[in-house]
Amino acid sequence: MYLDIFDPKAPPRAIGIDLGTTHSVVAYVRDGQPCALTNCDGSQLLPSIVHYGKHGSVLVGRSAKSYLEREPQRTIASAKRFIGRGADDEQTRLLGAYKFVTDPAGSAAANLVRFDLGEDPSGGVGGASGPRSVTPVEVSAEILKSLGQSAREQLKAVGGVVITVPAYFDDAQRQATRDAGRLAGLNVLRLLNEPTAAALAYGLEKKSRGTFAVFDLGGGTFDITILELDDGVFQVKSTGGDSALGGDDMDRVIAERMLRAMGFDGEAPIEVVGLVLGTAREAKHSLSDHPSVTVELPKKGGATVTWTLSREEFEADIQPLLDRAARACRRALRDAELALNPVDGVILVGGATRVPAVRGLVRELFAQEPLSDIDPDLVVAYGAAAQAQMLADSSDEVLLLDVLPLSLG
Ligand code: ADP
Ligand code: MG
Repeated sequence: MYLDIFDPKAPPRAIGIDLGTTHSVVAYVRDGQPCALTNCDGSQLLPSIVHYGKHGSVLVGRSAKSYLEREPQRTIASAKRFIGRGADDEQTRLLGAYKFVTDPAGSAAANLVRFDLGEDPSGGVGGASGPRSVTPVEVSAEILKSLGQSAREQLKAVGGVVITVPAYFDDAQRQATRDAGRLAGLNVLRLLNEPTAAALAYGLEKKSRGTFAVFDLGGGTFDITILELDDGVFQVKSTGGDSALGGDDMDRVIAERMLRAMGFDGEAPIEVVGLVLGTAREAKHSLSDHPSVTVELPKKGGATVTWTLSREEFEADIQPLLDRAARACRRALRDAELALNPVDGVILVGGATRVPAVRGLVRELFAQEPLSDIDPDLVVAYGAAAQAQMLADSSDEVLLLDVLPLSLG
C-alpha cells in the first residue's frame, strides 16, 4: 500500500527522537526505510539550544544559538547534562557555566537544578516581570516540542514517540526525560538506550546473538557501550566514557594554534575566541576530507596571515584526546569481561567519528573495520524511529528490546 504523507486522512505516524547534548534529530520510517525529518532550521540536526527572550519569547535551534555569546544567561545549551541532577551535586558544580536558583524551602524536587535566567522587565507576557527560571526538563521539553511540531507539519498526524537516552542514565534522569516528553505534548511510548538504537539502525537484532561495541563521540561527550544480544534482546554489559571529551575539544586545540598565528599569546578577547572557535570547527571538518586546510586569519594589528594546518599536525595535537578515549574503551571491555574476546561488531556514532584518526583508533582497538555506512549523526534517531514503528505495528505484543542491569547507573 502506498501512503501519501500529505494525505489529510493519513494515519498517525510513529516517530523517533534522538535528544542529543549538542544536536537533536527527529526521524520516522517511510516505506521500511528510516529517514530524518526537516526541523525548524530547515536542516536535520537541530542545535539543542534554547533561548528565553526578555519578553517571553522562546527560540530553539540555530536562532537560539545566535544568542549564546550575546545573552549567555538566557540561552541554555547542553541542558541534557543537567537533567535529573541535584543543584548541590558535586558533579553538577563541575559542569559550571550557569547560574542556578536555589529554593530555601528545600524539598527534594526544589533541590534539582533550576537555571536562573535573570530579571524579566515588566511588560513581558501577561505583564509578568521579575526573576525567571527554568528547569532542564522544561528546556528539553522546548526542544522536543519543536521537533514534534516539525514532524506534525510534515506527517500531519503523529502517533507515539520513542526518545533515546544514554545507557548510563539512572531512573531519575529517565523519568525527567519522560516528563520533558509529556510537557512537550508527546505520547512517549518508550525510552530507548542510544547504543541500542544504533544497533537497531544497523539491523543487528536480526542476528540471533553477539557482542557489539557502540563508540559514540559527540560534541562534548564520549560514550562507549558494550551490548550483548541474546534472542533479540540487547543487554548493556558495560558502559563508560568521558563526559568531558568530544569534538569541541578538538576545536579548542585548533583554535589555540590559530590564536597564536594571529598574534594572541595567552589572553584573547572573548569575541575573538568565539569567532576563532567557529573557524577552527570548519577547519576540523575540512581535515576529515582533505590532507590539509588553509585559512586567511586576521592578525592582531590589522594585517592578515595565511595559515595552514596539515592532518598530521592536527592528529598529533589531538593525540591526548584519543588516548583518553582509548583508555575508556579498554576499561569498558574489561568491565564487560571481554578483554580477550573480540567483539562481533563496532558501530560508529556521533559527528566526531568522521575524524579519520578516530576511525583509525577504533579499528586498532577492536581489531576490525567499524560499521559506518549510516550517517553517524542520524543513526541513533534512525534506530529510535525503527523502534517506534515496531511498537506501532505490534500493538498488543510486548516488545522487549533492551535491559539495563541494576548494577549500572
Ligand atoms: P551530540 O551527540 O553530542 O549531540 P553530535 O553527534 O552531533 O553530538 O557531534 C557533534 C560533533 O561532531 C561536533 O564537534 C562536530 O564538529 C563534529 N563533526 C561533525 N561533522 C564532522 C566532520 N565532518 N569532521 C569532524 N568532526 C565533525
Ligand atoms: Mg549523540
